[in-house]
Amino acid sequence: MAASALQRLLRVLELEERQGWRNRAVIGGLQAMAARWQKDAEEEQLDPRQLQTIVTLMARYDAATPESRPDVAAAIRRALAGEPVSLADAAAPAASAPQPATQQTSPVEAASPLPPPEPTHVARERVRRQQRTALDLEAPVSVLHGVGSATAEQLARLGIHRIADLLWHLPSRHEDFSQLRTIAQLRPGEQATVIANLWEIRERKISLKRQMIQGILADGTGTLHATWWNKYVKNQLKLGATLRFSGKVGLYMGNKTLENPAFEELDEEMVATGRLAPVYPLTEGLTNKRLRLLVKTALDEYGELVPDPLPAEVRRQAGLPDLPQALRQVHFPDSHEQFQAGLRRLAFDEFFYIQLGVLQRRQSLQSAAAPALVAEPAVLARFRAALPFALTGAQERVLDEILRDLQRTIPMSRLVQGDVGSGKTALAAAAMVAAAANGAQSAMLAPTQILAEQHHRSLSRLLAGQTRPDGAPLTLALLTGRVTGTERAAALEGLRSGAIDVVVGTTALIQEAVEFNHLGLVVVDEQHRFGVAQRGALRNKGGQPHLLVMSATPIPRSLALTLYGDLDISIVDEMPPGRTPVKTKWFPPRERERLYNFLRREVREGRQAFIVYPLVEESEKLEAGAAVDAYERLRQEIFPDLRLGLLHGRMTGQEKDLVMSAFAAGDFDVLVSTSVIEVGIDVPNASLMIIEDADRFGLAQLHQLRGRVGRGEHKSYCALVSSATGPEAEERLRTLEATNSGFVLAEKDLELRGPGDFLGTRQSGLPPLRVAQLGDVATLAAAREAAQALFARSPDLREYPALARNVMQFWQGHGDIS
Ligand code: ADP
Ligand code: MG
Repeated sequence: MAASALQRLLRVLELEERQGWRNRAVIGGLQAMAARWQKDAEEEQLDPRQLQTIVTLMARYDAATPESRPDVAAAIRRALAGEPVSLADAAAPAASAPQPATQQTSPVEAASPLPPPEPTHVARERVRRQQRTALDLEAPVSVLHGVGSATAEQLARLGIHRIADLLWHLPSRHEDFSQLRTIAQLRPGEQATVIANLWEIRERKISLKRQMIQGILADGTGTLHATWWNKYVKNQLKLGATLRFSGKVGLYMGNKTLENPAFEELDEEMVATGRLAPVYPLTEGLTNKRLRLLVKTALDEYGELVPDPLPAEVRRQAGLPDLPQALRQVHFPDSHEQFQAGLRRLAFDEFFYIQLGVLQRRQSLQSAAAPALVAEPAVLARFRAALPFALTGAQERVLDEILRDLQRTIPMSRLVQGDVGSGKTALAAAAMVAAAANGAQSAMLAPTQILAEQHHRSLSRLLAGQTRPDGAPLTLALLTGRVTGTERAAALEGLRSGAIDVVVGTTALIQEAVEFNHLGLVVVDEQHRFGVAQRGALRNKGGQPHLLVMSATPIPRSLALTLYGDLDISIVDEMPPGRTPVKTKWFPPRERERLYNFLRREVREGRQAFIVYPLVEESEKLEAGAAVDAYERLRQEIFPDLRLGLLHGRMTGQEKDLVMSAFAAGDFDVLVSTSVIEVGIDVPNASLMIIEDADRFGLAQLHQLRGRVGRGEHKSYCALVSSATGPEAEERLRTLEATNSGFVLAEKDLELRGPGDFLGTRQSGLPPLRVAQLGDVATLAAAREAAQALFARSPDLREYPALARNVMQFWQGHGDIS
């Protein structure tokens, strides 16, 4: 065993001894330390089995009384010294009867299903069962009967190390064997269970390696052929036995068949047959059959010990089963309804954790004071006077909300959502003016260089003529990866000294070297592209600045309330006057020729066009290839007289920026692209967007793409090319033709196909969800309400330590919530 983790634990034990075994040597106790310690120890290559034992003992230490802790500590020390330690050596809490041998040293692997337990076993089992505690959920899977090192290794490949992992290894689906039929009743294509007698067993060698076992089954109403491709099945089948068989009914040469049916003795509990039978993610060497039995055993022996972190009243109000029950029903449902109820319970928990985490984050963000940024009427009047337009009603309303936030010392946390072109930049500018009037600096974070540059230009215009308290004009700086050398040094120096009032940049802004003199406001554009962590990083650059997040990604309200529950939400739901909405139309592929003619006409008028090819996540390379091919074909055969540019996801950021800038400057007539066209890019002269295979995009994404045109004074068009025939795809395209509101589309998208990729958990900065579906709005809302009510009563969750721990674990590594 290597040194440091081991020695650390020894030191803790020494300290415990000196302090009288009060479990105070480490904050939170030994169990709290266990997970981290295990990780460290694993890195130090300690023997994993020994490690598991130690970790289990640490948990047990936690639960033990001070009187029995010395024994547990002694066992830990022995284990640390590399001596073999049986978990039974360390008295489980409150156990005084002699300990039976544990099954850690259980017989070698049984290849066949577990034999029926012998009477002595049953007795032992009973004793053991009475002594188990929730801590045993942390025990290694090898404590299960029949799990030796080979199975443990296979399980480990599935990430299953502890009993708890086994309980949480959820099935990917179920086989519905709940319908009991006679052979005569069986219909080809259905899944069913029959009780039948095994009349005959035949073996057929197919090749050297493969052998087919065929059984003839009969039940008085008819006969049925069963085939297995696993020769070991033969050892488990007894000629003349009456068994339960479950499988999918087929038809072969006029005979009803069951392919690879599961089977069980009639007096055996139904695990694989006669019920909804779980189908698990597997690994080589581990069959579903075996895994079913292992999970079943774990559920039977340990399932009831799973602590339920949900307060009982929350469970009652939401009508949820308790956690042990939910787990049981998700693995081995008694009915479809019970399965759904179990699943809903697990999903509820995840949403509940999300919401509690978000509420905690909000609270912690608001625990430090921000500078009060008060915008005097005169200052605002000067800003308005300098604007080339009057703010829309929606802009006025949102501006009011922002200014009210800024005046307070509770830091603002506000998300401004508004469709592309709704005028969010002017709102950011107004907030910056308020900051500057109070001598505070503002920073704006943009997702790409080109967007940062664009914002820098717009803000320079919008802020021209505005002054600092000392009467000097506002100074702006740009800070991206492209800004280097003396320019960069000057920007850094200006930010440090306070000479620069407003800086716009990319993630370069978050870098260590960037220091602010007095950062009062952080604006984040296109929020969904930044993780929670990045948001936080910039915020940490100075005291506690106010935070304004701007997004054109329409997120359904139900989701926004939860995912951005740490933010207040403002919506700019009105477009500046004079905009004509982009005219959207669906074209079947055979009308492409017409479309191309239309494109020519637009170009002749001096306009520009996009042609977008879908990018499928799994094969960015392939798709890039498709765009490259299309580009070559379009360039050589269809538009040899036009200037075509190409943009795709395999290009570097710099290459992309170059192409985009050239297109914006009018150097290309047509930009052929995958869906990587940057959000927010402003090319007012572009009037036509052609989207190929449009049915392969989600509504929200199509809407975002469509937002690339219609940004100038020209009438603009979006052509959706698709041969889609499915009703769902058709409805999506029709909706897009009919609506120009991103929010309506987002709701519709959620309804039609869940939140989809554009708002997968990947982009939302959320921890991965095991069960919950973001589109499950009802459960989401129920969990949100329950979490808010609980949080209002107990913000630190002090009365709910198990819940607090779960929330923390859930969020671990996905943004600091404390
Ligand atoms: P987005 O919300 O997509 O960030 P922008 O702030 O870039 O939108 O605004 C889009 C365009 O609309 C800009 O050219 C901006 O000058 C203009 N604009 C913003 N507000 C108004 C308004 N109230 N009236 C007229 N034009 C406006
Ligand atoms: Mg914008």
